Amino acid sequence: MPSPPLVPFLANGQFELSASDWRGDVFNPSTGRVQAEVPFCTPEEIDRAVKAAADALPAWSETPVVERAKVMFRFREKLQARFEELAALVTREHGKTMGEARAEMQRGIEMVEFACGIPSLLMGQALENLAASVDCETSRHPVGVCVGITPFNFPSMVPLWMFPVAITCGNTFILKPSEKVPLSAMKLGELLTESGLPPGVFNIVHGDKVAVDALLTHQSVRAVSFVGSTAVARHVYQTGTANGKRVQAAGGAKNHLIIMPDADLDQAVKALSLSAFGCAGERCMAGSVAVPVGRIADNLVEGLCRAGGTMKVGPTDGGPEVDMGPLISGAHRDRVATYLDVAKSEGAEVALDGRKFDLPREGFLLGPSVVDRVKPGMRLAREEIFGPVLSVVRVGDLDEALALGRQCEYGNGASIFTTSGWAAREFKRQFNAGMIGINVGVPAPMAWFPFTGWNKSFFGDLHIQGIEGVQFYTQQKMTLTRWFKSAADSHADPIWKSKASGD
Ligand code: NAD
Repeated sequence: MPSPPLVPFLANGQFELSASDWRGDVFNPSTGRVQAEVPFCTPEEIDRAVKAAADALPAWSETPVVERAKVMFRFREKLQARFEELAALVTREHGKTMGEARAEMQRGIEMVEFACGIPSLLMGQALENLAASVDCETSRHPVGVCVGITPFNFPSMVPLWMFPVAITCGNTFILKPSEKVPLSAMKLGELLTESGLPPGVFNIVHGDKVAVDALLTHQSVRAVSFVGSTAVARHVYQTGTANGKRVQAAGGAKNHLIIMPDADLDQAVKALSLSAFGCAGERCMAGSVAVPVGRIADNLVEGLCRAGGTMKVGPTDGGPEVDMGPLISGAHRDRVATYLDVAKSEGAEVALDGRKFDLPREGFLLGPSVVDRVKPGMRLAREEIFGPVLSVVRVGDLDEALALGRQCEYGNGASIFTTSGWAAREFKRQFNAGMIGINVGVPAPMAWFPFTGWNKSFFGDLHIQGIEGVQFYTQQKMTLTRWFKSAADSHADPIWKSKASGD
């Protein structure tokens, strides 16, 4: 059998095959088969990519901002033209359904559209006559060579959160995609290169901790954007800042969905099951803990079991349409499934067991699960599972629900389902998380707003996306100006006189 193709890396505008013989498998999660091999780039290759970015920086940062934006307009057209192909690639390497992959591409393209508006976003402030004859203005400047390190669960969208804004701000960039899903990133690199980006402005290297640490400690790197699990986010933040880099690091999550007794039950069940089981639960904004308040609990659990139990689960790469696809790997699927044993051993009730679905043996499939009567201290209430397992913690009132937020070490998202404006307002003000939904199952912001995780869901000061993203990829300069009338008057040459008088 021929060996699977080797994924190239991109340095200085060249797609090259790595000299490394250390390689990882890129699976098709729908079939469980290896579709490509990814190299773990050598230190020399990583250094070469950083050098290419450093060498490209002076010319690119001096390129007029309108020209930089035009590259992004062309890139956007290419993404749109290849939309279906790109979505299919996401499906093939990640396993999400085509509908979910199209939504991912759409959100990613919106980031590119946001970056197309960079001339307006980079405008500074100015104030005349702040003091006698003194004017003041601020301007934004690129920070330099930037790095993006991304997770497996959004192979296209999360890279697109980073490099379009970084590049249009005048920086150069090295992307280190997840070694589990490098194919979408390479396709983005190809299309960006074809959009007229000068060599070296955008580079891609592959690897895991070794590659990441090489980038975090490289003296030419000025800023690092990271998205992934909390343990790695903390490491990236600590190592990056200790080495003098600006770092934004988004981590894991445990998102609560509160259902008040007055909620529209059908709408809530629909939103909760999409939130918990969409993308096979592999979303940092997935609902992970359902918190029914009072009498609605029995009906909610019954509704969730019915909705989850009737979902069509299967391969997403070819074959009939399904509601939920496979998980990223066999190992991850098995780890998620062990939480159902943990649940039983801790005294919770597995109301819907995803292991009991009749599923094809190929691929990394697992059905949706609902675990009822989880108590706040149990592992299912505390740990990020990152799979299609919804824990149900029953509470007596809104205060108890708010207390769950205070106890949670994460703080990405939380939603309330209610018809009461008062309850919604209290929840919005009091819940200890950075992204709030009111009758919305996945309160993830679109490109124009920042992705405002709190607690251990984020390390840093400026979040990814929106205007905070622009601030992260730029440094401000303040200029105070004073001109003396006497200096202009003192020029003897009449040319100065006529200029000054406007003749
Ligand atoms: P991960 O932390 O395992 O990997 C993320 C990146 O870090 C990858 O590129 C990987 O190669 C690299 N990496 C892995 N181990 C490393 C180590 N020890 N040192 C340095 N680098 C290392 O995350 P994942 O499994 O790919 O993605 C899932 C996680 O990402 C979940 O925890 C999820 O909640 C989180 N996530 C968060 C957000 C957010 O915005 N907060 C968005 C998407 C995903």
